Amino acid sequence: MALSEKSSSELSSFLQTQRTAYDELVAQGLKLDLTRGKPSAAQLDLSEELLSLPHGHAAADGTDVRNYGGLKGLTELREIFADLLGVEVDQIIAGGNSSLTVMYDTLVQCLLHGAVDSERPWSQEDKVRFICPVPGYDRHFVLLESLGIEMITVPMTQDGPDAAAIAELVKDDPSIKGMWVVPTYANPSGAVCTQEVAAALTSMPTAAPDFKIFWDNAYAFHHLTEEETKSADILSLAAASGHPHRPVVFASTSKITFAGAGVAFFAGSSETIAWFVGHLGKRSIGPDKINHLRHLQFFKNADGVREHMAKHRAIIAPKFAEVQRVLTERLGEHDVATWNDPAGGYFVNLDVIDGTASRVVELAKGAGIALTPAGASYPHGDDPVDGNIRLAPTMPPVEEVTAAMEAVATCVLVAAAEKYSN
Ligand code: PLP
Repeated sequence: MALSEKSSSELSSFLQTQRTAYDELVAQGLKLDLTRGKPSAAQLDLSEELLSLPHGHAAADGTDVRNYGGLKGLTELREIFADLLGVEVDQIIAGGNSSLTVMYDTLVQCLLHGAVDSERPWSQEDKVRFICPVPGYDRHFVLLESLGIEMITVPMTQDGPDAAAIAELVKDDPSIKGMWVVPTYANPSGAVCTQEVAAALTSMPTAAPDFKIFWDNAYAFHHLTEEETKSADILSLAAASGHPHRPVVFASTSKITFAGAGVAFFAGSSETIAWFVGHLGKRSIGPDKINHLRHLQFFKNADGVREHMAKHRAIIAPKFAEVQRVLTERLGEHDVATWNDPAGGYFVNLDVIDGTASRVVELAKGAGIALTPAGASYPHGDDPVDGNIRLAPTMPPVEEVTAAMEAVATCVLVAAAEKYSN
């Protein structure tokens, strides 16, 4: 029976039962963590061989990777990721260890110098605003906030950002300079941006002539099922609709090899690449090509990456299955939450009764379960309805995921029963 349909006496006995369960949970003295989307040690072990690579130090063209130079990164590694991301080799560069850093650099270049198609630096505009589909990635929002860029939220749907709402916003407002999209297995909703939504975003008229789609494809290859969903072909769509410089694409091997010692990629039109490399050349004499060669020798080719991702899937899919099982078994009949069953990525998005997300996180903390702060998936950490919780099950071993999810379910039930009792 749905909790909302219970009589007040049924509700109070239900609350009592859940509080007893919660007290038992606290007494167990658990210490579990479902906060950040990090790979587990077993996933990192899949790439252990990298620690004994590269063999030798010459790229295919004879370049000595130990030396300076090669701003665009090792060509053979760019070829592999161009193939995987569906772009041309001259549309992609390989950089340092973090795509977030590349996103930061891109924004800073836009602010200081203007984008490749800007009339002036963004910092000379009265105001710069960005569209942020929500729920979204907290670090995207923090990054904008730190640079003084205002955020306008739009809903994230299961097909990607709400393109109609975005088109309406951008058509008359030149201060809206860009937007975020995590197109494949979005953080945290798991949504996959369809080719139709991507086409709408690349073709829509924008008042800003230099509007940018920050296409952060962090989870492009992170499938949780055997179906390897292909990302929308954003660069071709943009070129075909007459806005070739609109998308800037980011990706990395952070959750493929080592989070912290992987390789980040930046892709865009050839002009966008020339613009980015032009600025990059002032702050770097070249990337860590030894790491590029190491990754090249490890993967060998695009299929090497695909095979490697299947090994990740074998490790993490059972954890995601546990999240689904526990949520369905414990919460299904009570109608107090909805959640997604992602086909890839690193997160499960849990929506609880409005006004209870912070309480759930607080209860969980009291029972030794660390959850991402409620509201983290919204700009300024402010979820207007206090209903959204991001679950990240990849890092703990599967038994801990089960224990943590049992605890989360109890906390959701306590918070819901408290809410209905008031
Ligand atoms: N983009 C998204 C959507 C992420 O979820 C993350 C990490 O959680 C990153 C980027 C970070 O990427 P990197 O490690 O390449 O900086």
